[in-house]
Amino acid sequence: MNKNEIVRLLSDEENETALLQAADKVRKDNVGDEVHLRGLIEFSNICRNNCLYCGLRRDNKQLSRYHMNEEELLQTAKSAVDMGFKTLVLQSGEDMYYTRERMSRIIEQIKKLKVALTLSIGEREYADYKAFREAGADRYLMRIETTDKDLYHRLDPGMSWQRRHECLMMIKELGYELGSGIMVGLPEQSIESIADDLLYLQKIGVDMAGIGPFIAHPQTPLKNNASNNLHLSLRTMAVMRLLLPDINIPATTAMESLHPQGRIMALKGGANVVMPNVTEGEYRKLYELYPGKACVDDTPLHCRTCIGAKIAAIGRSIGSGYGGHNNRQPQLVNP
Ligand code: SAH
Ligand code: SF4
Repeated sequence: MNKNEIVRLLSDEENETALLQAADKVRKDNVGDEVHLRGLIEFSNICRNNCLYCGLRRDNKQLSRYHMNEEELLQTAKSAVDMGFKTLVLQSGEDMYYTRERMSRIIEQIKKLKVALTLSIGEREYADYKAFREAGADRYLMRIETTDKDLYHRLDPGMSWQRRHECLMMIKELGYELGSGIMVGLPEQSIESIADDLLYLQKIGVDMAGIGPFIAHPQTPLKNNASNNLHLSLRTMAVMRLLLPDINIPATTAMESLHPQGRIMALKGGANVVMPNVTEGEYRKLYELYPGKACVDDTPLHCRTCIGAKIAAIGRSIGSGYGGHNNRQPQLVNP
């Protein structure tokens, strides 16, 4: 598919149903009916960056900040494993409390639980990525956000698009399964640039692609922008499935936040992964990337049960394995 064809599919609101059905078939033929669950632990909302779209940006002084200590993090991981999760995702702002040594220690401890482990903690030095990999991390998730470099530099003051791209290349080179992705509906983001984003994700060969709608946060400079990007996000996700038939594609929480059936719509339009939040208690509310985040008032167990029922109701099953791309197995620690 070339750029023009992608732009045409993304713009074609009338034929969205047909596009999502085509992506659903490609999903079924290539990765089957299993939906892989990943337990998402939001372990710190402290961030050194100031991304204009994000509620965790450092200039948001109205947010009370937390980070879990090693013990809390390990306890959360254990509870998630007890609930049956076979992959855990550790996500946070760029919080330098988690030094190379501390983070490596945490990874080693969690890997003893025999899970696949994904990190989503932003930009770090090569030596950090290497240490985390050696400590046992299997996958890394970092969205490129947009490939429109001018837009990126406007939205992410003090950050460099080239640097983020290079981080993704380091992560790939170190043998992580690479997850990336974008936001859809950013102010001044064009359909053409979304098409470029998809071609970029195809070119760098992601193992996983997360595509979520931008949702304006009231405590950020983008508070007055529109947040009605669910359908364009679904079409973008569906085209991603057509371009990369066998990768992992999550039905994102941001989609669910814009529509009570958002994740189900995504699962019926090309997605094969869901990342239920397993963060406990007050921390759930405080990890507010965007407002109205789905399920913040629920418990991890409620979420696990709820999504399980929704998946069963559309005739799909929950993945029994680790759900790596091409069935790649995680590093497992010997007993
Ligand atoms: N700090 C790490 C991980 C946490 S942010 C990082 O930035 O990579 C995780 C993702 O949340 C970001 O990649 C971004 O795509 C998404 N996000 C942030 N603010 C958002 C908003 N207002 N609406 C939708 N998604 C948002
Ligand atoms: Fe920090 Fe990530 Fe939010 Fe940017 S998107 S402010 S890096 S948590």
